[in-house]
Amino acid sequence: MSNAFLHSFSAPTKSESDFVKIVKAEGALLWDDAGKEYIDGLANLWLCQVGHGQQEIADAVYEQMNQMAAYNTFDPFTNGPAAEVAEMIAARSPHPDGRVFLACSGSEAVDTAIKMSRLVGQLKDAGGDKQIIIRRTGGYHGTNLGGTSVQGIEVNRVGWGDLVPHFLEVSNDDIEDAAKVFAEHGNKIAAVMCEPVQGAGGVNVPPPGYLEGLRRLCDDNDALLIFDEVISGFGRTGSWFGAQTFGVTPDLMTFAKGVTSGYQPLSGVIMSRQVANIFESDVAKFMHGYTYSGHPAACAAGIANIKIIEREGLIDRANEIGEIIRTGLEAMQSDGQVKAVHGIGAIWAADIGRDAFPVRDAMLDAGVVVRPIGERIAFCPPLVITDAQITTMLDALAAQLD
Ligand code: PLP
Repeated sequence: MSNAFLHSFSAPTKSESDFVKIVKAEGALLWDDAGKEYIDGLANLWLCQVGHGQQEIADAVYEQMNQMAAYNTFDPFTNGPAAEVAEMIAARSPHPDGRVFLACSGSEAVDTAIKMSRLVGQLKDAGGDKQIIIRRTGGYHGTNLGGTSVQGIEVNRVGWGDLVPHFLEVSNDDIEDAAKVFAEHGNKIAAVMCEPVQGAGGVNVPPPGYLEGLRRLCDDNDALLIFDEVISGFGRTGSWFGAQTFGVTPDLMTFAKGVTSGYQPLSGVIMSRQVANIFESDVAKFMHGYTYSGHPAACAAGIANIKIIEREGLIDRANEIGEIIRTGLEAMQSDGQVKAVHGIGAIWAADIGRDAFPVRDAMLDAGVVVRPIGERIAFCPPLVITDAQITTMLDALAAQLD
């Protein structure tokens, strides 16, 4: 096997033969090329809500590709699946009368939301100065230049030369810190970028009142609040979106991952009616878009996936899964194996008080996939995982911590 394939977030010296080669997936289970079985405790990469092997989605994509595999949606073209999935997404969001832009990755969605908020900022301030974007420590927003500039995980920001200017960082859990930055830069701030629950940063649930505080600061300073719902969307937090779980309504919402459960690459940005009004009245032409925006096969996967989430009651199931994980992790905390437990809905992390990577490796050997983040082990399973599989997953952690 040649070493041509350069993997994401990996050491370039690592040989292709040293990676775990996943060859089959069904429900919450995976198999590698040696036939070893794993429980997918991370739902692929925080995303496979409906589980693996859903024939219905494969069929929907196949049918669409047989009819028309792909055609762009640049003016003057459109297609049925793009318009339909946009409507379905808006209808389940806090902005049923808003607009939905479509792209392929979370990173594209984030960069789009940054550009949209700066465009609105430029319209509000003819001098062109309203363009500061606020990021939060520990935030992860993808790896395009906008997403790299707006993320609060420093190790991901360094080494690339100058990033995009006019980004300022605030603490991820101290609203007073954000208030100070707003007091200093207020009317120059275009937007705040915020994951309702920070995922890659370690599963950080905001303290009570924090998101409300950001909403107030944005309102008082005519800035947009952007929720990056790439992980928290499509049922993960126990509602369609984190915005609904936390009861705070942003102006722009990015989504990806769970919109298709990963069966096809699809992402996008939902904009509120208020922002849409600005676009519709003041933007002669929206000079942004991707060749694959509204890709019909990806949109067909989204439509089928959303129908499954709804029909199978997976949003309620997220809360049940979360209860089992929380109870299990808190029991380990009582036993002194775990230092702290973080999470909401069906996304959780155990702070184990030591480097989580060796524990992840040992759990992988034991047939359970989890995510190590510093001293935390994160769980984010498919929403079709069984109670027994959750128990196996938690037992694998307990066994390693013993
Ligand atoms: N935003 C958040 C909150 C994410 O968790 C991720 C990926 O994990 C992204 C954006 C980037 O998504 P993608 O890897 O699809 O570009």
